[in-house]
Amino acid sequence: MAERRTAEAPALAGNAEQRLISDPATIEGAPWVRDAWSQLERLVDTGRLPHGLLLHGRMGAPMTALVETLARRLICHQPREGWPCDECSACRQAEQGSFPDISRLADDPAHRDIPVDVIRDLIAGAWFTRYGKVRLVLIERIERLNRSSGNALLKLLEEPPDSMQFLCTVEQIDRLLPTIRSRLQRLRLREPRQSELAEWWRKSLNCTAEDANLLAFADDPSWVEEGELVFDWEAVTGVWVELSNRRGNPLGMIGPWLALPRPMLARWLLRLWAAVARRQAGLEGDLPQALEPAVDQLAKAHDAAQWLAVQTRLVRFAVEAGHPLHPELSVEQLALDLVDPRLARRLEPIV
Ligand SMILES: [Zn+2]
Repeated sequence: MAERRTAEAPALAGNAEQRLISDPATIEGAPWVRDAWSQLERLVDTGRLPHGLLLHGRMGAPMTALVETLARRLICHQPREGWPCDECSACRQAEQGSFPDISRLADDPAHRDIPVDVIRDLIAGAWFTRYGKVRLVLIERIERLNRSSGNALLKLLEEPPDSMQFLCTVEQIDRLLPTIRSRLQRLRLREPRQSELAEWWRKSLNCTAEDANLLAFADDPSWVEEGELVFDWEAVTGVWVELSNRRGNPLGMIGPWLALPRPMLARWLLRLWAAVARRQAGLEGDLPQALEPAVDQLAKAHDAAQWLAVQTRLVRFAVEAGHPLHPELSVEQLALDLVDPRLARRLEPIV
């Protein structure tokens, strides 16, 4: 755990991480972030970086590297070739988490909402600039603001002190309050290609290309532990193949599905189905070899006319997955419907 500042600025709940690491290697290794860095560098060099900057794109280590390195670049006294120097007093303090002129709400999966008290604390601390040059306000995953914390922040966004620099990130921009969104200038990071993601996983985890392909296919950093997916993807995928054979009792096959959190199951099945659809359409994809047999069998077991019915059913399951009631029943119903996707369509009006 990094150091927390306690002296002048109030401590903020959920912002334990105050260290800013300059990380050119991660930025260089993630092409979709490297492109954004080039743009940002030009804006900084020409003095045109918006004071309310909103970086919109996928969260994860590359985005964190981008925000922290940019913050470091802004406070560094003697940047070298565009990167923070790592040697000046500001760089050293930031590296240790003791740079005084920063207020940060780091991304924290445990806090899905940013409470209004946290924003009030942030605002109270944000008016003091001890170092002089710039006051950084970092809010990661800013869509976590709720209505009251958003309104509290809005006052600061509307009339910020001249020295204040907002660096915010957002992943689900449709969840961000429109009033906040309109006060920030958005820079959209492009979506990484699956091959870029795979290469990034391969380098950062030092795993095989095939494992990296699978991780890129899963496309969710929270599913990865020690270089592997946290669930038995072979068993989970196998259930669907078994179901599509239409032999035996479907409810006897779904053990691996019941062992999985439903949102995770829903997303995995949707990814698989997208791969099946690409296969049926004759499109080439970056499908991991290990998934080829399952995707082939699923493609053969369904005709193109069923595509929409299955897709609709999976999306409905994904929506239901957030609902606390009857997790087992909803998985069982999904299995029964997938045996005959047309059934799902017939059931639609009475659900
Ligand atoms: Zn420096």
